[in-house]
Amino acid sequence: MTRVADPNQVEGAETAPFYERIALEAMSPSQWESLCDGCGRCCLIRLEDDETGATLETCVACKLLDPATGRCSDYANRFARVPGCLQMTPERARRLSWLPETCGYRLVARGEPLPDWHPLRCGDPDRVHEVGVGVAGQVVSERDVHDDDLELFVTDRLDDGDFGGGA
Ligand code: SF4
Repeated sequence: MTRVADPNQVEGAETAPFYERIALEAMSPSQWESLCDGCGRCCLIRLEDDETGATLETCVACKLLDPATGRCSDYANRFARVPGCLQMTPERARRLSWLPETCGYRLVARGEPLPDWHPLRCGDPDRVHEVGVGVAGQVVSERDVHDDDLELFVTDRLDDGDFGGGA
């Protein structure tokens, strides 16, 4: 005899979200893209401290980033227009030490939970900016800053490790 299934048990209801079940390399393109929280912080110009070798984040953004929205203004063509723009890969998500601690790729690569403001958890792509993690309204474009002045725009965000919200 076979036990009759409990009608109150919805199949799959206890299943963890895809980013906790599927290896980075096995995700579909849309799943992979959705790991990005849209903060825009990987689009900020970083400087290297000549004495310590430390990476310093500035509040100066790539020429393609819209400072008001925190979004890339030409996402489809970003690699052609900005030679230094990096395609995120599983290997880079694991290795790049300058990614912000809140970066969705970095968190999932480390097996850490996504914060409650992440679009995959709250469903709101603007929340990342509302909680102060995203760069919208907080940065200037490199179009408006001379290279010699970049040091004036260094922030300490990479080091403080606490960007609102939390898991
Ligand atoms: S830092 Fe990470 S989460 Fe933020 S925009 Fe870049 S890839 Fe996306």
